[in-house]
Amino acid sequence: MPTIFLDGAQGEGGGQILRSALTLSMITGQPFRLENLRAGRAKPGLLRQHLTAVLAAAEICGARVEGAAPGSRTLVFVPSAIRGGDYRFAIGTAGSCTLVLQTVLPALWYADGASTLRISGGTHNPAAPPADFLLRAWLPLVRRMGVQSEIVLLRHGFYPAGGGEIHARAAPGRPVAIDLLGRGDWRAARATAIVAGIPEAVAQRELAQLARTLPQVSGEIRVLPEREGPGNALLVEVEHAFLSDVFTAFGARGLAAEKVADLVAAKVRAYLDSPAAVGEHLADQLALPMALAGGGSFTTCQPSSHLTTNLAVIERFLPLRSQIEYAEGRWLVGIG
Ligand code: AMP
Repeated sequence: MPTIFLDGAQGEGGGQILRSALTLSMITGQPFRLENLRAGRAKPGLLRQHLTAVLAAAEICGARVEGAAPGSRTLVFVPSAIRGGDYRFAIGTAGSCTLVLQTVLPALWYADGASTLRISGGTHNPAAPPADFLLRAWLPLVRRMGVQSEIVLLRHGFYPAGGGEIHARAAPGRPVAIDLLGRGDWRAARATAIVAGIPEAVAQRELAQLARTLPQVSGEIRVLPEREGPGNALLVEVEHAFLSDVFTAFGARGLAAEKVADLVAAKVRAYLDSPAAVGEHLADQLALPMALAGGGSFTTCQPSSHLTTNLAVIERFLPLRSQIEYAEGRWLVGIG
């Protein structure tokens, strides 16, 4: 098959171009050459998380790879057959386990048998989907597309210590198209303030501030063993009849607990004020499974450059066209 040439500086210029290319290359059997890897980032090239994704993908499909080294800015990936099995991947830093998981899990739907995955690293990282987002927002929709997968959060890992672990199962099966045009009636909103090696009072202050700005949100505190920290995340799951979305803010040194609550409240408010079905992050992460299903559609608040870049990469591997149009206060994304 001819090699697909990709420019890692296009659009968002981040790791998603690499991860989507890996997934689609494994599944379609098309080799790719990616240059200017992560050119849009402060530290371009392959970091540990990306390198783990490359090595994981290569192991799963017996690929021949050139350029799989820390800092590498060019990668050649020539896939072979996807094999089911029991896989373990260690990122070795707080790099995101969930992003590695999202790279390889869809490929395992196309394997010759059932698989398990164990990935260690960070599970709750800024600029990546927290494990709770995968469990409560992304996975339920992917399962609604008909594929069998489970994800279990075994241990939390925060930046910079890492040390988290997730486990997943996947069975062979093809996703089918779904449409997510509306989110349905309001059901509930639940906040979880996670603290590991951080005083519980921080979580209490976050929830108290959230209750002032979003009184409709209920709250619970998840106190983790100190060895899983230090780390603090404030998540809000917003449940409607047709789906849940999850919004997150992270505690950081010098950032008041009240400010963390205000950050997440602003995201929840923007979502609730819009008639769209899915928020910004769910939108770009639904694009690939929908494309594998041969099509689908959803509405979102605002198309991000992650979404448009991901759609452009998808169109290089699959004979699909996507459309984004504004209608009635939301953006309609159609893939097909
Ligand atoms: P990249 O910046 O190219 O490595 O891609 C980052 C990925 O993480 C994108 O799919 C984002 O939508 C996703 N992401 C970043 N922050 C969050 C968050 N708070 N919740 C869910 N997903 C996120």
